[in-house]
Amino acid sequence: MPKKLRNRNENFVAVDVGGTKIMAVVGTSGGTIVGRSRCSTPRDGDVKEVFHAIELAVGAAIKRAGLGAQDVAAIAVGIPGVVDYENGRILKTPNMPLTQAPLTEFLRERFGVPIVLDNDCNLGALGEAWMGAGRHAHSLFGIFVGTGIGSGFVQKRKLWRGARYAAGEIGHMVMGIGGPKCGCGNSGCLEAYASRTAVEREIREAVARGEATVLNELLGRDLSVIRSRALRAALDAKDALVTRVLEQVGHFLGAACLSVRHLLDPQRIILGGGVMEACGDFLMPRIRAALDADQMRSATDADELCPSRLGDYAVVVGGIALAARLCGPNPLKKYPDAELRILRSSGSSRG
Ligand SMILES: [Zn+2]
Repeated sequence: MPKKLRNRNENFVAVDVGGTKIMAVVGTSGGTIVGRSRCSTPRDGDVKEVFHAIELAVGAAIKRAGLGAQDVAAIAVGIPGVVDYENGRILKTPNMPLTQAPLTEFLRERFGVPIVLDNDCNLGALGEAWMGAGRHAHSLFGIFVGTGIGSGFVQKRKLWRGARYAAGEIGHMVMGIGGPKCGCGNSGCLEAYASRTAVEREIREAVARGEATVLNELLGRDLSVIRSRALRAALDAKDALVTRVLEQVGHFLGAACLSVRHLLDPQRIILGGGVMEACGDFLMPRIRAALDADQMRSATDADELCPSRLGDYAVVVGGIALAARLCGPNPLKKYPDAELRILRSSGSSRG
């Protein structure tokens, strides 16, 4: 853990830097969101543009909370990649241009407060452990399926980060030897089969082979970006191609959850992220079927597999917990029964 700081201020900023959007909130150590803001992640943007978008989102959230930077005790940022949490360094971001980018220095200079970085899915799991689907659980493994696939492991209210901060990279667990190339450079990773990026690739390849899909109408024949809600709409329209591709996603996620069970035996496996939010009712039964078919275990516990409860807010809730921890006691221990509250006055969710 980075050096502990003393600060009586109880407002913390948490940022979720995602592949498609950046969300910043101001929250208290008791779990109340008092300011929030959201913007698109600059697509194909360079480091400067992404930094600028993060700066704007943080500034807008603080403003909407009716505060200034001097009222904030610390800022926590969730990054989609491997992060040296002790030293605030981004080591590798396979799906974004932030590898080795000096975000800690940049934000400290702009806002003049302590900055702490962590892997976004670590924070998502921590958020679910505090106020989400994993509260009061002995241990939980959170898997987040979006542009990429990440995960975090929390046991006894603490994150397991590994010896080199790279634990929980389930997206890069090899599911198929010699399989498709992954954004990380390796082949056959879970992410290369079951992320939204993999789904986009499968769909584009099938369309190039001449397969029909309702997505062509929905997206005006531009399949360069296929968001989760377009996949949802295609499922609702009983689109054969999208249904088939998502069936495969379900199989791969099911197999991954089965491996998690055998490796760690967490009390809960929690599934979240944009793809799960949009298509969870289609995917969850398929994932559960993989656990139910496990020959090593007779039955799946009723609450062993569950959807994220915090949805879009999982990462920032974990971020608030991390920032609060930097300045005081672990809020998961101090406020174990905290409920997420989002004040109406915290502002519109887009900005
Ligand atoms: Zn990979």
